[in-house]
Amino acid sequence: MVLVSACLLGEACRYDGRSQRSERVLAALADKDVIPVCPEVASGLPVPRPPVDLRGGTGVDVWAGRAVAVERAAGIDRTEAFQQGARLALEAAQRFGATVALLKEKSPSCGSQRVYESGQLRAGEGITTALLRAKDITVLSDEDL
Ligand code: SF4
Repeated sequence: MVLVSACLLGEACRYDGRSQRSERVLAALADKDVIPVCPEVASGLPVPRPPVDLRGGTGVDVWAGRAVAVERAAGIDRTEAFQQGARLALEAAQRFGATVALLKEKSPSCGSQRVYESGQLRAGEGITTALLRAKDITVLSDEDL
């Protein structure tokens, strides 16, 4: 059972209204049971939606209260929605017994190695990934396939 970023499976749930369908991901998951999840849409955010950057740190820092998630252009704070989406993703993983997640790299929610902070790509993880890892769920990047 694998928790997977829904956009990688072809769901048009990205901020820009597109999907990020990956044939490599689909092939890797061909014999697995998957739980598709889009934390941002699960939290009630619309499609499309303004792009969001982390500021002050990465996902771990957000949970520690040292960083926030804000709309890149308008500066509106979306931290609460992103945290709610992360909690819903964790709930789905726990309900279905998933101990592994395969998530989309560079997303402020799903990134597992690199995320945008204040417009710059840097090492770190997104808000959902940080919560899943804190609960001992292994998070892999689509870029590792
Ligand atoms: S939040 Fe995750 S699943 Fe949703 S569009 Fe962004 S990368 Fe894909």
